[in-house]
Formats: sequence, structure tokens, C-alpha cells
Amino acid sequence: MLDKIQGGLIGVAVGDALGATTEFMTKDEIKAQYGKVTEIIGGGVWGLAQGETTDDTAMTLAVVKGIMANPNDPIEEIGKEFLLWEKTDPVDIGITIRTVFGNYKGDWFQAAEEAHHQLGGLSAGNGTLMRCLPIALAYSEQTKIDEISITQSKMTHYDDLASEACVIYNRIAKRLLEGESLHQAIQTEIKHTRYESNYEAEPDCPPDGYVVHTMKWVLYWLTNCETFEEVVVGATNAGHDSDTVAAIAGGLKGMEVGYRNIPAKLSNALLEQRSLLDYAERLYEIRNKEC
Ligand SMILES: [Mg+2]
Repeated sequence: MLDKIQGGLIGVAVGDALGATTEFMTKDEIKAQYGKVTEIIGGGVWGLAQGETTDDTAMTLAVVKGIMANPNDPIEEIGKEFLLWEKTDPVDIGITIRTVFGNYKGDWFQAAEEAHHQLGGLSAGNGTLMRCLPIALAYSEQTKIDEISITQSKMTHYDDLASEACVIYNRIAKRLLEGESLHQAIQTEIKHTRYESNYEAEPDCPPDGYVVHTMKWVLYWLTNCETFEEVVVGATNAGHDSDTVAAIAGGLKGMEVGYRNIPAKLSNALLEQRSLLDYAERLYEIRNKEC
């Protein structure tokens, strides 16, 4: 169980660090500049150090810390962690969350609704899907996982498409912790959802920040790749929102294979590997107390 929880957090961070090198590039630009990115090398649009991660991992850790601060009712604490992250002046805050931070005056849900309207009704970004995994790692009860997944999404993203994706994703994660195979868990949880049809085929949309596109590409990589490395390398070399797609897909694949089966050349490259493993242990302890 702990190995799977650690695999989830490390999987997110590896996908983030690997994919950040090619974020906002097209497939052809990546090919021309790098051939193929297979190792964590940093650089990219954010000029990252080797092994550095971006907002995907930072916001995932904000959710982790919020859960640790108050496992029974983590939403307010998660909000405090978001504000602490904003204070570090990160360069890579997504447009939806940047707008919500601008609006925030004590009520996240109101700030999110205002942002939705300011952005012309567009708040179905992937910014809540990329950070929601810790909820499925810390809790075992379905209704609690669903409820917190939805609420944390609504804090910044008003659109139901964003929270819907978080629920599906964390239900898949829950099944992985219960010992189901990834393919079986995906099949079960996307049944009767918008993601059901043709999910194994290459999506006819770019792997961009729209959560429906992101989710389609995540399902594509997870159902077409054998190994963890193939999943995150595939998403990385497809470009666009590569770090986020690789982080989201890497989280579930990391859980399936477990931390010990994530290639050491990838996990050891992470600057925050030790603290991520410690945070995973804290989630594991919370989960055991909840049971
Ligand atoms: Mg990012």
C-alpha cells in the first residue's frame, strides 16, 4: 500500500519534471530540438533546473499539506496552502487559478465563479485534476473521496467538467489501492461517462489544458503503454500541456507499478524525492487511521 501511495506522488512529480521540458511545444518542434526527451533534463519554457518540478507538483503538495493539517475537513487548510504557494511568486500559475487568486477575498467558491465569468465561461481547465490525487491516497471511503475531490475543484474551477474529471480519476486511483488492475479500473469508472467511447484510440484533439482533452490523452497513454516510462515519455513528447498530462497519467501509472518499479534514473533525478516520499508516508498514516 505504501509503495503504491509513494508511486502516486513520485509518478506525478516525475511526469511534471520530465514534461516541463517540452511544455507549450508541438510534437514537431520537440523532434527538431531534442529528437526525443527520455530523461529529466530541465530547461524548457520555465528554464528549470534539472529535477525541478512546476505548479502540478506544488499544488498537489498543497493538497497533501491541507489534508495533513485537518484530515477531517481539509478544504480550508488546502486554501491556506494555495495562498502560501502564491506568496512564493511562482512563474507558472495557470490562467484560471491566477484569475481566482486575483478575485479571492475569503471565499474560494465565489472567487472561482467570478473567474469563470471573467474568462468568458471557460473554467474547465485541468488545474484541479493535476492536484487531486492525494485525496484518493489519504481516504478510503468513496463518498468522502468524491466529496472532497469535487469541493477542492470548485475552489478554483467553477465548471462541472473539471470536478467530474477529478471524481473519475480518483475513483480509478481508489480501485488501484484496492488491488485492481489499471485497465480494469479505467474500464469500470469511465463507463457511462463522456470518456467511454473509443478511449483507447489516439484522441483527435491536442493534449492541451482543457480538462476533457487532458483526460482523453491521459486515458490514451494509460491504455496504450506497458511501462511507467512509456507513459510519461509518451506524454512528454506529444508537447502542448505535456507536464500536466504526464503528471496526471504518471500519478495513476506510478500507483499501479509502485514506487519501487519507477525507473530510478527518473525518480532519483527529482530534487524533492525525499520529501515526496515522506509526504506519502504521512498520507499512508492518515489512511490507516481513517480505516
Ligand atoms: Mg506545470
